[in-house]
Amino acid sequence: MCGIAGYIGKKDAKNFLLNALKKLEYRGYDSAGIVILSEKKDLNCAKSVGKIKDLEKKISKIDLSGKSGIAHTRWATHGSPTEINAHPHHDCQKEIFVAHNGIIENYKSLRADLEKLGHKFISETDTEVISHLVESNFKGNIEEAVLNSLKQMKGAYAIAVISKHDPDKIVVAKKSSPLVIGVGVGENFIASDASAIIGYTDKIIYLDDDELGIITSNNYKIISTISENNIEKKQCKLELEEYEIQKGGHKYFLFKEIFEGPEVVKNSVRGRIVSEAGLVKLGGLEVLDQQRLRKINRIIIIACGTANYAGKVGEYMIEEYAGIPVEVEIASEFRYRKPIIDSQTAVIAISQSGETADTLASIQEAKRKGALVLGIVNTVGSTIARETDAGIYNHAGSEISVASTKAFISQIIVLALLTVYLGRTREMSLVTGKRLTDEIKKLPKLMKKILNSCSEIEKLAKKYSAYRNFFFLGRKYNYPIACEGALKLKEIANTIHAEGYAGGEMKHGPIAMIDENFPCFFIAPRDSVYEKMWSNMEEVKARGGQIIAITTEGNKEIENLADDVIYIPKTLEMLTPILTAVPLHLFAAYMGIELGLDIDQPRNLAKSVTVE
Ligand code: GLU
Repeated sequence: MCGIAGYIGKKDAKNFLLNALKKLEYRGYDSAGIVILSEKKDLNCAKSVGKIKDLEKKISKIDLSGKSGIAHTRWATHGSPTEINAHPHHDCQKEIFVAHNGIIENYKSLRADLEKLGHKFISETDTEVISHLVESNFKGNIEEAVLNSLKQMKGAYAIAVISKHDPDKIVVAKKSSPLVIGVGVGENFIASDASAIIGYTDKIIYLDDDELGIITSNNYKIISTISENNIEKKQCKLELEEYEIQKGGHKYFLFKEIFEGPEVVKNSVRGRIVSEAGLVKLGGLEVLDQQRLRKINRIIIIACGTANYAGKVGEYMIEEYAGIPVEVEIASEFRYRKPIIDSQTAVIAISQSGETADTLASIQEAKRKGALVLGIVNTVGSTIARETDAGIYNHAGSEISVASTKAFISQIIVLALLTVYLGRTREMSLVTGKRLTDEIKKLPKLMKKILNSCSEIEKLAKKYSAYRNFFFLGRKYNYPIACEGALKLKEIANTIHAEGYAGGEMKHGPIAMIDENFPCFFIAPRDSVYEKMWSNMEEVKARGGQIIAITTEGNKEIENLADDVIYIPKTLEMLTPILTAVPLHLFAAYMGIELGLDIDQPRNLAKSVTVE
């Protein structure tokens, strides 16, 4: 998600900063900006919506010379992608500029307090609050002002601060979002990741959470933001190939994104759970008339492809825990039907890009018929985000690989949050709300456990790479995951044919195809339908089929029946799809590799389907 760059030294800062922003482009962004301290100690800033080359064009017409500066690519979370909202943001006097990655969760209350003190805000972002906070804490030393400001801020951040009061330094800090310092000779560099610094220096310092760095052209100092003591940091030698770093150490975006899953869950959940009260806060829905929301008696979820399967998981969740009837519709079907909709119907559109043409047309149709239209969208400011009455952003960061993995995970998480949100305004008790939210918070750790045993899945892909047909079977919450497992395999390992089925449907036809050449994935965690899945496994075994089972840790009996077993940690039944999806995503990815395919850009597919 977005990027930060900084330079302080003897050379013209602009060159490094623009170059670094270009290197960080792969992280995804919607706007960019740069601020440079001139010889006369003026801070000159330029911003633009769109690509770095648009910013470059703008800069070519103005004087932006100077030997220190900071720059930013923004991936909007608070406020649409406009020039005003682009970073760096400044204080009232335009003497302190801040670039920020992440989300300041308590920005609303900080902003209200600062406004009371007379600070004037010009953007919709959470970030602008940092520059005013630093201004209000400034007593002659910029690092002290930043340090005191951090103590008042909650949330996730990587920040870079430059000020004309203290012109010989750049102050940086980090919590949750990444930031590195490149150590040069008579110059130092700052960036969100090392890929931006390659070619300038090979000495890197990785800032850790709760650390603050004071960077000058000849020196740097790192202190703990908690104890305020100096920290001796190890300089690392940069050895990774540039290409590899861009992909976070992975060779393909697909793997990078699958492995980002735990982080994605954290980002989607951050600031949205009130643990003690078992409640979920969804800022995007606050704009709605809450009475109308409470009266909703039917939900239609509209989505395409993978998002449709996430929607299906949502159907089971909302019906079971919020007690509202839900239907899930493929957008390209919904738009041409004669849907029966009234003002007590909520239509929820799910789209990673927020531009999916069929989904967009569907919500326009639903709006026309008087439904309350909501969106679950990853891309801030996208058309669907704008056209819905209200919505929930995924905060999954940009997804580059065409096959959606991390966005899928975050869609399910958002639907789980929505379930608690809706449930708690209806019949869900505090105890249930608390149990669900507590379990949601544990998911990143559980996902990591599965990802750590990825080599097992890789072995499995090698073992099964010669087969050309696969079934994926699941029931209840994991029926959509069976469909997702099959879809991912079709997309990524596209010379293989795969089908996803509800376990109980097998006997109504597909079982005719089973023989020793037709391996079947059974998604069978120890849940309320486990026994039923067991019977389905017996049926396949009796016909000579091979079984790959995904089940809950400790379930050793399954090894007597299945040829291969993948274990997932224990969680609530409702949340098992988040965990069972991970090995299936990995399996598809490894299969693609085994078959020598382009796993990031599979043939015939487009990332954002903006056509009908
Ligand atoms: N939350 C900030 C914004 O919306 C920063 C987003 C980012 O990480 O680029 O402006």
